[in-house]
Amino acid sequence: MVEHGLAIHVSWNPVTGCLHLCTYCWARRLALTRLKRHPHYAAHGFNPALNEKAFSRRFKPGEWVFVCDMGDLWGSWVPAEWILKVLERVRDFPSTTFFFLTKNPSRYLEFLGEMPGNVELGATVETNRDEGYSALSGAPSPSERLRAMMELEWPNKVVVVEPVLDFDLDGFVEALKRVKPSRVYIGYDNYGHRLPEPPLRKVELLVKRLKAFTAVHAKTLRRAWYEEAG
Ligand code: SF4
Repeated sequence: MVEHGLAIHVSWNPVTGCLHLCTYCWARRLALTRLKRHPHYAAHGFNPALNEKAFSRRFKPGEWVFVCDMGDLWGSWVPAEWILKVLERVRDFPSTTFFFLTKNPSRYLEFLGEMPGNVELGATVETNRDEGYSALSGAPSPSERLRAMMELEWPNKVVVVEPVLDFDLDGFVEALKRVKPSRVYIGYDNYGHRLPEPPLRKVELLVKRLKAFTAVHAKTLRRAWYEEAG
């Protein structure tokens, strides 16, 4: 979940489920535990599904809506009709801002001609390192995501570095500079997964370097699990 300090923040899940199978996925856990008796999750679990009921929901002007925090709307498996249906509904509320977040941002490129102006296009990129990444997630590699975000021409792009994984400082900063995001969120894993995360000092340096060219919203910043409490 991404917090946004600037407007009323709600989430909307017209499509749920995800096949990226990240080892640290909190949404899958939620769908299969606390939400398992909810009729939609009881029927579909965390498999990709269209949530027809969600399309009757209305939004207020000025609201900031996180679309699909319970899945990845832009996964390669999502039928184009589902995406177009969501974009059509987004177009009905031009004074509301809709925030998309994906681990497959190259899919944005397919729909740029249909994209309403009131959307922010976000990508989660936890590191710039591809090595070892496939043990943590089946999503496209971090470098592939960074390349797609560089290629994407959109006025309001967002990068979410969460849960942050160890990275190459210069390489990551340079890649993010080329993406030209209007803001970056950054934070550690909140659920004790013991991920290969960087030491706190390195993340603080990243934040400092990013602040030279974009807005940075720090989320959970703490010592890495293997660092001594000081
Ligand atoms: S991309 Fe997000 S929703 Fe999909 S498995 Fe990974 S953490 Fe879960």
